[in-house]
Amino acid sequence: LHLSFRGRRALVTGAGKGIGRAVAVALSRAGARVTALSRTGADLESLTRECPGIETLCLDLADWEAVEAAVGAAGPFELLVNNAAVAELQPFLEVTRSALQRSLDVNFGAVLHVSQIVARQMIAQGVQGAIVNVSSQASKRALRDHAVYCSTKSALDMLSKVMAMELGPHKIRVNTVNPTVVMTDMGRINWSDPQKSAAMINRIPLGKFAEVEDVVNSILFLLSDKSAMTTGSSLMIDGGFLAV
Ligand code: NDP
Repeated sequence: LHLSFRGRRALVTGAGKGIGRAVAVALSRAGARVTALSRTGADLESLTRECPGIETLCLDLADWEAVEAAVGAAGPFELLVNNAAVAELQPFLEVTRSALQRSLDVNFGAVLHVSQIVARQMIAQGVQGAIVNVSSQASKRALRDHAVYCSTKSALDMLSKVMAMELGPHKIRVNTVNPTVVMTDMGRINWSDPQKSAAMINRIPLGKFAEVEDVVNSILFLLSDKSAMTTGSSLMIDGGFLAV
């Protein structure tokens, strides 16, 4: 399946590392004009060295005013990937206010806010847009120490459905991808314990975690015209975890 995004303008959040970075590179190589948003300047500098032509926005998505100014000025975009998130795992009885607030701000609030800004511009320009929100298998299954993370991803799935409903008449599609564990920095911090990872892999029918490339392929499909009739859906990239 050859996907071309020639001339399309794309915004990818959390593009300094991991899945977001790989999405930004793949979109750029497929011809899109990519703006990569992330928090650590050094990551964005190395990204532009790897992939000249990518533009960057260095800011913290939890900063509502900074997002408003920077994303508003960088648009308009036809494609948006809300990928940035934090995973601060804590036992339910030990969840802290700061972890809760930060997770709600980044994993949920920033997705809503960035999407508002981008969708308003799409509507003003009369373009057919596509938004992909990076959720998780954790949105649909309880995982130990994931009370806040599971809940923010579950809220993200529902936000995506309401966005699909309200933005559909404007020809803007909104979908989520829901991967199982991927061994990015986030994955390594939370799943490097061999006993813990073996227990998870045992519950995955395909018997392995997902690769970054698996997630990138699904995101590009949902951004492309090859999924023109798909909106309000969640695409599992979980090796069957949720099927059993
Ligand atoms: P990483 O932690 O490897 O990368 C996340 C990126 O997002 C980093 O570049 C980070 O920048 C950026 N980011 C985080 N918070 C902010 C912020 N407030 N403002 C701007 N940028 C920010 O994560 P992954 O690549 O693994 O995860 C990407 C997405 O995939 C997330 O939505 C995650 O929930 C989801 N996912 C991941 C899974 C996994 O096992 N890895 C499984 C299922 C879903 P910085 O490092 O500078 O903070």
